[in-house]
Amino acid sequence: MSIETPRDVERLFLQKVAEYNRSEFEKRRNELHLTDLTSECMRQVWFEKRDPLPDEPENLLRMWEGSMMHQMPLLDEHELELEFEGVKTRIDEYGNGILIEKKFVGFIPRTFDELKKYYSHYIKQVEFEALILTANDREVKKAYLLFVCRGEPEPGRYPVVAFEIPINIEEIASRFAETVEAYKIVLSSENPPDIPRGFTPFDYPCSHCKYRGRCFGR
Ligand code: SF4
Repeated sequence: MSIETPRDVERLFLQKVAEYNRSEFEKRRNELHLTDLTSECMRQVWFEKRDPLPDEPENLLRMWEGSMMHQMPLLDEHELELEFEGVKTRIDEYGNGILIEKKFVGFIPRTFDELKKYYSHYIKQVEFEALILTANDREVKKAYLLFVCRGEPEPGRYPVVAFEIPINIEEIASRFAETVEAYKIVLSSENPPDIPRGFTPFDYPCSHCKYRGRCFGR
């Protein structure tokens, strides 16, 4: 690509970011990943697997930034790739019975109640990761969610906050089995599932979803 104008420099950067994300996306498209199971919308996962739309520059940058931020290791086993019951995952950090899942976010929860209100899908992710680690002969003694703020935190909020996530493997195992079964049925269908009850185009997650136009026609 020849570079003759500032717009060419912008295009070059976005093209490289898109290439960086695309190879990972194409690999994951044909597999069931833990982050699929913890998505807030099965319909969105169906679109991502069966009929995806390209990402807007904002999304591409957010994904790229996220992968760059994950690069620094904290424990012995970093970016650990595991599989259980046909579900693949990459565990951020594991070592000596400790699991840490890192999240780089704009809003940092202050209390466990806020964590449950805004990030229940991340709690579910850590629980399922603990199960997958256990199934792969790695005992989980403690599991944590670590939040690191992207940019300026809101006044009164600390930029780095960790929460311990309680783990009950038996209870998690039964929820995991039900969730995997439900996803396998949905993803084998030729049509996407209905819009979940109570979802509106103006509220999260639809307000941030690239499929909003398909679902709500605007
Ligand atoms: S717009 Fe809403 S209902 Fe449609 S795929 Fe996205 S999150 Fe799901």
